[in-house]
Amino acid sequence: MNDGRNADRIDAPHAHPADAVLASAASTQQGLTSAEAARRLARDGPNRLPEALRHGLLHRFAQHFHNLLIYVLLAAAAVALLLDHRVDAAVILGVVLANAAIGFAQEGKAERAVDAIRGMVNPRAAVMRDGKRVTIPAEEIVRGDIALLEAGDRVPADLRLVRARSLRIEEAPLTGEAVPSEKDPEPVPADTPLGSRSSMAYSGCFVAAGQGSGVVVATGTATELGRISTLLGTVERLQTPLLRQIDGFTRSLTFVILGVSFGAFLFANIVRGYPLADAFMAVVSLAVAAIPEGLPAVLTITLAIGVQSMAGRHVIIRRLPAVETLGSVSVICSDKTGTLTRNEMAVRVVVTAEAEYEVTGLGYAPEGTIQRDGKVVDGHAEPALAQLLRAAVLCNDAELRQVDGNSHADGDPMEGALLALAARGGIDPDALRRAHPRSDELPFDSRHRYMATLHADGRVLVKGAPEQLIDICAYERHAAADRARDATAWHQTADRLAAQGQRVLAFAALPPNPDRRRLDAVDIQTGAVLLGLVGLIDPPRAEAMAAIDECRAAGIRVVMITGDHAVTAGEIGRQLGLGEAPRVVTGRDIDLWDDARLQAEVLTTPVFARTSPENKLRLVRALQANGLTVAMTGDGVNDAPALKRADVGIAMGRKGTEAAKDAADITLADDNFASIVAAVREGRTVYDNLLKVISWTLPTNGGAAMTILAAIALGLTLPVTPVQLLWINMVTAVALGLTLAFEPTEPGAMRRPPRARDARIVSGELAWRIVFVSMLFVAGAFGMFFWGRERGLNLEAARTLVVNTIVVMEIFYLFSVRYTYGNALTWQGVLGTPAVFLGIGVVTLAQLAFTFLPPMQAIFGSRAIALSDGAMALGVGVVLLLVVEVEKRVRRALTPASA
Ligand code: ATP
Repeated sequence: MNDGRNADRIDAPHAHPADAVLASAASTQQGLTSAEAARRLARDGPNRLPEALRHGLLHRFAQHFHNLLIYVLLAAAAVALLLDHRVDAAVILGVVLANAAIGFAQEGKAERAVDAIRGMVNPRAAVMRDGKRVTIPAEEIVRGDIALLEAGDRVPADLRLVRARSLRIEEAPLTGEAVPSEKDPEPVPADTPLGSRSSMAYSGCFVAAGQGSGVVVATGTATELGRISTLLGTVERLQTPLLRQIDGFTRSLTFVILGVSFGAFLFANIVRGYPLADAFMAVVSLAVAAIPEGLPAVLTITLAIGVQSMAGRHVIIRRLPAVETLGSVSVICSDKTGTLTRNEMAVRVVVTAEAEYEVTGLGYAPEGTIQRDGKVVDGHAEPALAQLLRAAVLCNDAELRQVDGNSHADGDPMEGALLALAARGGIDPDALRRAHPRSDELPFDSRHRYMATLHADGRVLVKGAPEQLIDICAYERHAAADRARDATAWHQTADRLAAQGQRVLAFAALPPNPDRRRLDAVDIQTGAVLLGLVGLIDPPRAEAMAAIDECRAAGIRVVMITGDHAVTAGEIGRQLGLGEAPRVVTGRDIDLWDDARLQAEVLTTPVFARTSPENKLRLVRALQANGLTVAMTGDGVNDAPALKRADVGIAMGRKGTEAAKDAADITLADDNFASIVAAVREGRTVYDNLLKVISWTLPTNGGAAMTILAAIALGLTLPVTPVQLLWINMVTAVALGLTLAFEPTEPGAMRRPPRARDARIVSGELAWRIVFVSMLFVAGAFGMFFWGRERGLNLEAARTLVVNTIVVMEIFYLFSVRYTYGNALTWQGVLGTPAVFLGIGVVTLAQLAFTFLPPMQAIFGSRAIALSDGAMALGVGVVLLLVVEVEKRVRRALTPASA
């Protein structure tokens, strides 16, 4: 970090003229050279704030004991020790320690993985280096760099503004003030408070509107943000609404278990006449068996595994609850350009007032031609065409670059395609730009849908959506002289191109006026001359079509929301499979409708075109009012409210602004619609697995506890001793339960409708499961106990048989739980996952030791049993699996809706 090393910086840069600050930072408007920047980076250190300190290892380990369930267990161990039941006390402690150790190790791994995933979305920033605009990781910014700002950017360091164009910055991180402040490079008095220093842009604040640039005066901890909080980002606990629900549930369960145990204790001692110590130990083992102490850790791990597998599919989770919400998404609202389409634009058609041209060639390479009636034409030869191509180059912020012999576009791909068009017409964009430097501009804004530039000779060039430009132009350009433009004919041409799915842009110019120094929106309202139209293709992504089909099968609606023209949007929607002739509604319609009307219309409309960010927000609300769970994509600074309002806000990793990423719950590293659907699939898997962990843990715990309870109630000999029950708990609770966190997606996961958002986790079905399976466990345990005694086994051997039977039943029940919706009795079902086999392997070895090793026999009172008895225990497991599977089928047949 660089504290103190920025000492040579100018004091109160806001009070000095921009030039003086530039000079003091030994920089110019052209920025630093790469070599100088590298030197300063080595001197000052990276531009970042230190991370919040993590708690020490010991503290984190200790946290695993901070839990009501564990307190109850520790109290039980203490009492057992007082009663001189040392083995029992040791085993209870063993349960607690094993549980904490596994939870600690796995959770630590999961947290590290989640942190690493967060690191994948490090912010980038645009700066001038070697006289050119480049995008670099924000960490590499140094003092003296010229940083470029536009709407949606996060200010990467403290800047003294050198240029500002309608620049407004929201400074809430520093001042708490949510209304963006106007910025201007003019110096302000030295004693101006932070919130009013209009000549500065401070690190961490978002650009709300406009453009600007500034010289970096402080980085890292030397920035104002670094001063108020030298610690960035709090360490987020792995916590979600569902986990909180489960935490609450296990807490209430603990109280119920304690109540039942206390009742059982009184009953055992008073009614059944058990000695006090025996009654106490029986009841303690009952409580330990029933309390699902491993559950919270296993659920957290399940969630973390979900986050990791989503990252493998280019989906970066920024807010953990999104992992769960994704699984219940019932409508996905997606942008068109770049998400549903490839964002690989190519110009196909150019129309001037004199002729229509076809354009060949793909990508940004100059290979390709402009043809008129099948004959190749030179871009300079036909005046109307030449002027349009010139506007396409000058009213354009993109740059083409050669990388490994391939042409790449820096900036908007559409603008890159326009540069490639000019090159195909024989025009050299760089030379043209040098000859006509830009002196002012109106940046593109999705609200007015055009951009305009002013050049040194007073010429103004405009490009934008045809509806906007055709109507404001009074004239159209012809080689000889300008004529009044024929609006109807131009609109017809634009519609004809749009109907082929092309994105249409219009170009216009204002006559040169050497006196013009500044450009304002009103200037272009009078006297503009229409130069022509350009039609670009942007093919749909093949994988998006497949993903839309998958959504249909999964009961998820797909809605395309785009800034593009209604006719273009409708045609791309058709190609994507959103309908034969999908109904298209425009932003203007939405503006006219009240909320009730909109709520009804959203259900029948798959395509919304020419929408504004406000429209998006109303659409999210209308969909939610219909009870739908909405995932919504966005990239611009104005999309932030809709992203926040959506149940799952999705920002584009590549073309999205920092403001959108900040507002979103997840970021799509590849901007691809198919990745959203993959995330939904993963979300469903995570939720299924959470349910599986719960549906395995609760009935197996219940079964073991009920066995003791039944023995006390009926006054029978305990078929397992308290310490044996503790043993079962220790080996199986985590070893087997944890394997379910690794379950792959069930085959039918995307062929059933989304789950209701408010579905309760411990549903009636699960409650029935707990009772039913617990009963089977009681029957299995007692059955084997009596059968063993009948055949003359002594008490110890019979109990060993019961312990093994319970473990075997837990294993077989695990196989049933692995398929909530499908059938467990298939090859695939039997084969399991590596995790399942590892878990079973560990448990089997532990059971062999328990049964045959003399020291274990001494501790647990176990005895070696015959192979045939072991086989019998396996048989009981098989029967349990069959019965549970038959029950599953019967229940599914009775309630077809849940099948
Ligand atoms: P989506 O919302 O699906 O990403 P989009 O990219 O088409 O759609 P916008 O970027 O808001 O949405 O663009 C809306 C319209 O504004 C475009 O159809 C085009 O007519 C015009 N437009 C887009 N980019 C520019 C630009 N750089 N210069 C001038 N006009 C533009």
